[in-house]
Amino acid sequence: MRPSFLNPLFASAQTISGIGPRFILLLKKCLALPPGVAEPRVIDLLWHMPTGIIDRRAEPQLASAVPGSIVTLQLRVLKHKPAPRGNRKAPHKVTCEDDTGRIDLVFFHAERKFIEKQLPEGEIRFVSGRIERYGEALQMAHPDYIVAPEARDDLPMLEPVYPLTAGLSGKIMVKAARQAVDRVPELPEWQESRWLEARGWPAFKTAINRIHRPLDAPDVSNGAGPWQRLAYDELLAGQLAFALVRQNMKAERGRRLAGKGDIRQKIADALPFKLTGSQQTALAEISDDLAASHRMLRLLQGDVGSGKTVVALMTMAVAIEAGAQAALMAPTEVLARQHQETIAPLAEAAGLRIALLTGREKGKVRDAILERLASGETDILIGTHALFQSDVVFKDLALAVIDEQHRFGVHQRLALQAKGANNDTNVLVMTATPIPRTLLMTHYGDLDVSKLTEKPAGRKPITTKALPLESLERLVERIRAQLAEGAQVYWVCPLIESSELTDLAAAEERFAHLRQIFGEGVGLLHGALSAKEKDETMAAFAEGTIKILVATTVIEVGVNVPNANIMVIEHAERFGLAQLHQLRGRVGRGSRESFCMLVYKAPLGETAGQRLKMMEETEDGFKIAEKDLELRGGGEILGARQSGAPGFRVAEVPGYDTLLAAASDDAALILGSDPNLTSPRGQALRTLLYVFECDEAVRLFRAA
Ligand code: ADP
Ligand code: MG
Repeated sequence: MRPSFLNPLFASAQTISGIGPRFILLLKKCLALPPGVAEPRVIDLLWHMPTGIIDRRAEPQLASAVPGSIVTLQLRVLKHKPAPRGNRKAPHKVTCEDDTGRIDLVFFHAERKFIEKQLPEGEIRFVSGRIERYGEALQMAHPDYIVAPEARDDLPMLEPVYPLTAGLSGKIMVKAARQAVDRVPELPEWQESRWLEARGWPAFKTAINRIHRPLDAPDVSNGAGPWQRLAYDELLAGQLAFALVRQNMKAERGRRLAGKGDIRQKIADALPFKLTGSQQTALAEISDDLAASHRMLRLLQGDVGSGKTVVALMTMAVAIEAGAQAALMAPTEVLARQHQETIAPLAEAAGLRIALLTGREKGKVRDAILERLASGETDILIGTHALFQSDVVFKDLALAVIDEQHRFGVHQRLALQAKGANNDTNVLVMTATPIPRTLLMTHYGDLDVSKLTEKPAGRKPITTKALPLESLERLVERIRAQLAEGAQVYWVCPLIESSELTDLAAAEERFAHLRQIFGEGVGLLHGALSAKEKDETMAAFAEGTIKILVATTVIEVGVNVPNANIMVIEHAERFGLAQLHQLRGRVGRGSRESFCMLVYKAPLGETAGQRLKMMEETEDGFKIAEKDLELRGGGEILGARQSGAPGFRVAEVPGYDTLLAAASDDAALILGSDPNLTSPRGQALRTLLYVFECDEAVRLFRAA
């Protein structure tokens, strides 16, 4: 359990004065909360990092103040000149002075009483904001701060600038962040002092205080000591958590999963194709790993269409040959269903009993599925994160296969492993995005990898072309010709409703438009449809009743309709490379010549242009992944915010790669000498793990 001295950090942000139910809603909009956290907490405020700073340290007298600059003035209030009645456009002016001159503070659409209360005539006030010249006179419109002498300290001379949302002012954010910092208890130092000294990094609390209460402008920079230290803390926590999971798995006297190969043979016989060389190699690596006495944690990397599903099925067959059960988990319902459909005929041929469990199976149906699972009548359970629910009990789960892994968090991964009775479940994670080494380490720590490098035989290259929105009509004509020859089209649009951004070619609008042209054969698939509607639509597309499937990015992962040979992506400039590559992978699976049309809205930005060009030039997922990393740089390194994966809160900094490598080495060293984190530093590191919410990793010690 999290130590109680950390509780103040994990209390609701509502415990901070000035933050009530209304602000909570606003905060929820602008803070990046980790998955599963419904309401902002104090710690989420701490991790809401500034993007810049306003320097209010210039405190000139009026005679020497530079118009256009931000200043803090000590003024005596002379006289209020409210807007004349009936003239709502005229401002309320307040004339003030110091020993060297006069200035008008100007307020538009302001409430008179409120201003009079803030600036009582005859009194001294500290006022901060941008000073301007208006004709001969000096003025300041809507000062940022007006404080009485006794509240002078509330005026932040160096004010961090935070990402905000409409209705939430920077002022409130500053106040909230400062209070949040004050909740940070004294914590044991978890970093080595030599390392901190060498880098010139401050202690944790000092670092966080510097960022939210900067003493100098560079303090809020993500390249400076305070932020770098926190980034390193976060990276170390992550690496340590992974290393612990791994250590735990390797230490387990996992059962040896080995079978006679009879079920695998039956599956192979039922396959309409031969396994590729890479599929065979990967399977050999996997079965060796399963037969060894430690638990398996292996990543199967293979580009879209490289045939991971069959490898997954063969792997599960090993578990079943050994008398146990297996689970296959997909990130979406559509995908889970698709897996089930692909696997069902093969499973039947091999005598395997499979079941499907998603959010849709309810009541009696669900009960029956669970019963068969618990009694061992089901060999393979396929599903979504519904598999995590605590009442899902296996008789003997020996292997969990997790598809399209980057969509699941480490928490979920651990939860599924925990379903194995003796904590000895082997895990195979599959990802379609070839992930560069740095990202691999970030997401998984140091794990074993198998790669599918060959594409199944018979794949044809996909012709990719970028074209401006203006050419849409020509594209539609080409599609008309293709449809006549039996083609099928995916048409991807980024957003579902056009209400927010009118220039977005929203899926619904495009759907209506294409229906007008092509009639009934046009279908629409988007996230707001019920699961049943989604299935029906996908089924109609797979059968060919739907010729053009207009979709939001719900089709991004895994979906397999071999006859579909044209992929149109609208607003392609808005997608990242990895996503474009994923989408393109939906076509080129059948015997037809395939096309990917990247429709963009001109003018194209520099990076977007490079992305589209890259797509035109290559289909090699590894090359694309590397280019992707290069184009995105450190800033957005994981794309985690978008995908809902466990993102970083502070670690997206310059020098990320170096810090990560150091954190990874550090984690290995630490566990090498103190595997149970019992030394004083080990204890402090446990605190670090809790601060960064890697509770599951610490929990592993309970078993140990
Ligand atoms: P992904 O790696 O994207 O999950 P899939 O497993 O969905 O790829 O496979 C894509 C398609 O390739 C499927 O239709 C599958 O049946 C087919 N396939 C898989 N392996 C081979 C192979 N060795 N030879 C020919 N086709 C294959
Ligand atoms: Mg797949």
